[in-house]
Amino acid sequence: MAEAEGDAQPVPPASATAPLEPGATIGILGAGQLGRMLSLAAAQLGFNVHVFNDTPGGACPVSGASTIAAWDARDALIRFASACDVVTYEFENIPAEVARTVADHVPLRPGIRSLEISQDRIAEKKFLTSQAIPVAPYAVVTASDGADAPSAVDVPGTPPQRPFLLKTARLGYDGKGQIPLDAGADLSAAHRELAGVPAVLEERIAFEREISVIAVGGIDGSVLAYDPAENTHANQILHRSIVPANVSAETAREAVAIASRIVQALDHVGTIGVEFFHCPENEGGDLLVNEIAPRVHNSGHWTLDACLCSQFENHIRAIAGWPLGSCDRHSDAEMSNLLGDEIDAWKTSISHPSIALHHYAKGEARPGRKMGHITRIGERRVR
Ligand code: AMP
Repeated sequence: MAEAEGDAQPVPPASATAPLEPGATIGILGAGQLGRMLSLAAAQLGFNVHVFNDTPGGACPVSGASTIAAWDARDALIRFASACDVVTYEFENIPAEVARTVADHVPLRPGIRSLEISQDRIAEKKFLTSQAIPVAPYAVVTASDGADAPSAVDVPGTPPQRPFLLKTARLGYDGKGQIPLDAGADLSAAHRELAGVPAVLEERIAFEREISVIAVGGIDGSVLAYDPAENTHANQILHRSIVPANVSAETAREAVAIASRIVQALDHVGTIGVEFFHCPENEGGDLLVNEIAPRVHNSGHWTLDACLCSQFENHIRAIAGWPLGSCDRHSDAEMSNLLGDEIDAWKTSISHPSIALHHYAKGEARPGRKMGHITRIGERRVR
């Protein structure tokens, strides 16, 4: 059942590319913490927000209107789309059919191409390779009954004694749908564990560090990017992002250039997160792209407190057809996710003069659940 709340006023329909005026309605597919922070940024710029999700979530209390309905509730989706001036998404795993239904009624930004490529690791790797952007050596493992495939898999250029990761092509995030395989492991058994779905077999990279670039594409084709962040993970979930990353100016420039090329090649309108492995010893290039996320990204949360215009504001600016805001960083930053009961750190963080608290107001602090984050700000060093 669709359930519209709030008192958003209808705004005359805008042409597909005319900048939206404050008072227009931004639709967001998904209602987690990313939708929440997007809603807050949209509200700051004077927009109304309408979220669509299958369960009530963290974005609902801060948006003017919400539709809670199943993803396949087509009528509810069409009513939602028709009530918005532009629609965006906070996560890439929304069904492609949902995106198409929305795009038939209202501009969807970023567009379906960004979504389709990034929600399928096989399409993503083919796209990156077609752009001459280096990725970890990989092989496609197609759907099978699990009987003998993928025993014949051959990863080009990869000595068989190296370790691998078998990753489902779709619906994987934060390490979900991944099986680490040591040399000589039984690939067929591992593939059966993943229910025989299409997958990629990817060399496990001995990287020195992981970095990410948050870039943003404007409706006029302009591209801006924030400084690269250096990321550490715990249990494959982002733990901390530090800016500036401990890489040379040349590597930082190269990472920004690659992210910008991806934005241009996708005609991407909005924010995008590009994750890299930095491996200076690697013969095929010292930066390999691990993943692209066609949306605001956890490793860009530091921009809320260390930049004049955050990744969230820039996403809203882009999809509203506004000029992009500055990505300049006025401070150094260290963002830490608060998972599960780490959220209790809110009590100490609020007494700290250089820490900003972002509490997502989720109910239950389940282990591993992203409940909030803190960003420690420091004087900007030159890098
Ligand atoms: P993903 O869901 O693909 O972003 O993977 C989550 C995390 O697993 C990454 O941020 C890395 O820390 C690790 N990981 C993923 N792929 C690889 C790889 N090919 N080699 C080494 N570590 C990886």
